[in-house]
Amino acid sequence: MNIQDFIRDIPDFPKPGILFKDITPLLANHEALVGCADQLANFSPKDIKIDKVIGIESRGFIIGSMIAERLGAGFIPVRKKGKLPYEVNSKSYGLEYGEDILEIHTDAINAGEHILIHDDVLATGGTAKAVCDLVKELGGVVVQCNFIMELDFLNGREKLNVPISSLLNY
Ligand code: AMP
Repeated sequence: MNIQDFIRDIPDFPKPGILFKDITPLLANHEALVGCADQLANFSPKDIKIDKVIGIESRGFIIGSMIAERLGAGFIPVRKKGKLPYEVNSKSYGLEYGEDILEIHTDAINAGEHILIHDDVLATGGTAKAVCDLVKELGGVVVQCNFIMELDFLNGREKLNVPISSLLNY
């Protein structure tokens, strides 16, 4: 099974000039879904116990929670501004197509906890960098950022000085 076969390219979505990487065909196929989560969980360092996996709203929630289950870790949702009900820390960030604010609950992470951050796509790296900053502000340690795919030509990994793993590179 080739995960790449389940990623659909949508030109000019959500804006002209963006080639959107649609993961819904992957999510809809049991073998691809489970294979993707298994491979990403296997990428996590074997010598460090991951305490919590962060999934970034919204596509990062799906595989992120499957990775957490496989690693015996908890799951933390990082959400867009105004969605989380309790006290939050916020961070604004630039996107490949716009700007936004991400939030995390202030009690989501205990100092020193090992955190794995997951999202579907690493593009410019602004989103993942903002989440790394939120984790550090709460005293957590980012052990790895992992992604289903990385858009190499946008050099997102240069913004992140943490280990990065991706299943696919474009
Ligand atoms: P960035 O902050 O530029 O690395 O963008 C990453 C975030 O935007 C992720 O949450 C992705 O889901 C989304 N994203 C950015 N570019 C794309 C793309 N070409 N296709 C699908 N999602 C994207």
